[in-house]
Amino acid sequence: MARYTGPVCKLCRREAQKLFLKGDKCLTDKCPVERRPYPPGEHGRGRRKESEYYIQLREKQKAKRIYGVLEKQFRNYYELATKRKGVTGENLLQILETRLDNAIYRIGFALSRPEARQEVRHGHILINGRRVDIPSYRVKPGDVITTTGDIARIKEAAESANKAAIPSWLEVDPASLTAKVTGIPLREDIDIPVQEKMIVELYSK
Ligand code: SF4
Repeated sequence: MARYTGPVCKLCRREAQKLFLKGDKCLTDKCPVERRPYPPGEHGRGRRKESEYYIQLREKQKAKRIYGVLEKQFRNYYELATKRKGVTGENLLQILETRLDNAIYRIGFALSRPEARQEVRHGHILINGRRVDIPSYRVKPGDVITTTGDIARIKEAAESANKAAIPSWLEVDPASLTAKVTGIPLREDIDIPVQEKMIVELYSK
């Protein structure tokens, strides 16, 4: 599946907030959002009229950028969310949260979602003992996530991970680099700064 390959810090600056796409660097004062807290480009510092459409569009773009999903796939997730029972916006976030690359990031096996995606693409991740190299694979309750070995980078990330930030639908044993999916993510487990209602309003037009 295609992915964005341009400069990622520009994406954060465009949304005027940290989207944590670069791991360690995001927590330092080298973060460009800290240094230049205005959108990139010639007119970045100009005044902008924020219409309802503009706000809805920005919320959608932000969600896509956080999860590293391009428009077509994001739209497909939205269509899937509308077919499920419950609140469409929450369904959409739940689908995005259960992507394998996101789950790897959540359990602390990677410092950012792009890094988690790379680990999956490089074949370092096993689900129930079988190698899965598709970042968009969706994990489900009962799945056991492990690695293909003692990968130094993954181990380092797991050791430094903030245990308190691991959501309740995932259980992790950093020593054995093993995690279990114990449930489905609820809205309160999803700490991303996105108003999903705005995305639904945008796509419902
Ligand atoms: Fe975003 Fe991280 Fe780059 Fe800061 S360092 S702009 S949070 S990707």
